Amino acid sequence: MDQNSLEVVTAIQAVIKASALCQEIRKDLVGGESILKSDRSPVTIADYGSQAILCKLIREKFPHDTIIAEEDSKELRRPDRSKILEQVTNYVHAFIPTASSKEVCSWIDFSSNSITDRFWTLDPIDGTKGFLRADQYAIALALVEKGVVTLGILACPNLYVDIHQPLGEKGCLFVALKGRGSIQMDLRGLSKRTLSVSKIENPSEATMTESVEPDHADHLFHQRLAQKLNISKPSLRMDSQAKYGIVARGEGTLYLRVPSPSEPGYKENIWDHAAGSIIAEEAGGRVTDVLGSPLDFSCGIKMVKNHGVLATNGILHEVVLKALKM
Ligand code: AMP
Ligand code: MG
Repeated sequence: MDQNSLEVVTAIQAVIKASALCQEIRKDLVGGESILKSDRSPVTIADYGSQAILCKLIREKFPHDTIIAEEDSKELRRPDRSKILEQVTNYVHAFIPTASSKEVCSWIDFSSNSITDRFWTLDPIDGTKGFLRADQYAIALALVEKGVVTLGILACPNLYVDIHQPLGEKGCLFVALKGRGSIQMDLRGLSKRTLSVSKIENPSEATMTESVEPDHADHLFHQRLAQKLNISKPSLRMDSQAKYGIVARGEGTLYLRVPSPSEPGYKENIWDHAAGSIIAEEAGGRVTDVLGSPLDFSCGIKMVKNHGVLATNGILHEVVLKALKM
């Protein structure tokens, strides 16, 4: 696969459109309202609209490919949610002018639950809690072939383009192809630059990045590990897979995700790591779980063979794994 292949061109266009829809909704602030799913996690009209666009555009070009995505339209089809479905359809309309409410639901439901030899996995809004706080969030899409992530795309509409100008331009599109490196562009797909991880060799100079939500990661454990490694810089708390982008461009040296004590047996979802992990790896980084095992995207929706996640600049990976064992 190269950067002009149908997969890459289709996926980039789909993510750019989904990301524009999310930004529109964020701007109109209707995204401030959310529905609680059965697992108590929030979902917004932006999650539904983004998934509808991504699934429709991928299925159009690859009718035989499996898509594994976070949402389904069950809640949206409830008669008492008809106003919400209407809002979702209106936003999707701006990108797919023929869209009807019925079609929007059916596009969302292109998503299936079972892994095949080749499949797409997507999170229409990764970090929904960040989106609701007007903080970081990402639109994440990856292609997995025979258990290997071969293409990863992340749109991070709220992420600053340059760490030295945190109040400057925002909006990053990360793209990685297996064996071909990672790049960052703006959200129009322009201003391309190649990414590489930090060259830091001394753990005490490292910057750690972690979730904002204390229920998603064990902050206290992370803090103890930072002390063990003599890391003095405060950790960079950020929602979504934007953390992988931060590691890929060398601003974060390591991204740690030890399951939170509120859910110590938590198993990660494939759509929360497929796109991000290839972006960090192709920029020269290394990604495993916190025990050092490679991330396994071939077991199903849940990464049942892994425990937490560790992404580093590669150089520090073994040192951090060793400290994690102590
Ligand atoms: P982050 O923004 O890095 O905190 O990660 C957001 C993702 O965390 C969401 O997409 C959820 O799928 C995932 N998540 C939900 N519950 C948990 C949990 N208990 N532990 C770890 N991750 C979780
Ligand atoms: Mg997610």
